[in-house]
Amino acid sequence: MVITGRERGKTGKVLKVIPEKKLVVIERMNLLKRHTKPRGPQQPGGILEREAPVHVSNVMVMCDKCNGPVRIGKKVLDKGEKVRICRRCGEALD
Ligand SMILES: [Zn+2]
Repeated sequence: MVITGRERGKTGKVLKVIPEKKLVVIERMNLLKRHTKPRGPQQPGGILEREAPVHVSNVMVMCDKCNGPVRIGKKVLDKGEKVRICRRCGEALD
């Protein structure tokens, strides 16, 4: 997946999808630094990095075959199974 905006051009693995809010969390992307106070020996203080969710409009699916971000189409297979396809080369992405 590729992202636009602050993290433009970077790619990463999608860790989590929040469909109802149209948000995705991408590995090592849009990191937020949180400073935490020590709360005993189990939780030492420090700077914690967490991925913040980004809106789906800011990401695009990467196609391995096209080697770049592509638009996604949907295709229904013979068995009634739906797959996402690359609009450029027609390759199934799921
Ligand atoms: Zn493609």
